[in-house]
Amino acid sequence: MTKLLQISQLGDPVLRQTSQPIYQIQDGWVQTLIGDLLTTLRESNGVGIAAPQVGQPYRLLIVASRPNARYPNAPEMQPTVMINPHILKHSNEMAKDWEGCLSVPGIRGLVPRYTAIEVEYTTAEGKLQQQQLTDFVARIFQHELDHLNGLVFLDRLESVQDVITDQEYLKRIVDSPSGETR
Ligand code: ZN
Repeated sequence: MTKLLQISQLGDPVLRQTSQPIYQIQDGWVQTLIGDLLTTLRESNGVGIAAPQVGQPYRLLIVASRPNARYPNAPEMQPTVMINPHILKHSNEMAKDWEGCLSVPGIRGLVPRYTAIEVEYTTAEGKLQQQQLTDFVARIFQHELDHLNGLVFLDRLESVQDVITDQEYLKRIVDSPSGETR
């Protein structure tokens, strides 16, 4: 049975820590944490989650883009568990788009990110994997990777004026359903 975990909120020191690599992927606690993170992500309408967000400072994240109440225009994909992830290559091009965070509730920020990246990680089965990610999915990865390094999206803002409330954000999405904003 997986559990719904409590989300660490901005101000909790665990979100400002550098997370530790995971060496024993088949260990029970790692597999339990993966199951609990998948459940927690699904229940909270997130599109990604990182282990420090549930108080576990380990290098484990999940990218799981899908349309939901918090991100109506997100593309659909299978949840992908990534252990000890890093970026191998990235585009020169960056783009700004809206991000929110389960650990920073109530607001969204316009965050610059690379538009295309090549990443490497170990799967939940212990296999080393390379993958190309673009656009919104690349954005989710970069957001979650930041969590493993003690950063939140607020740290990436070019200006405090690039912050709006969730309510305003959802209004903008309704106004432009084709989705320049996410
Ligand atoms: Zn976050």
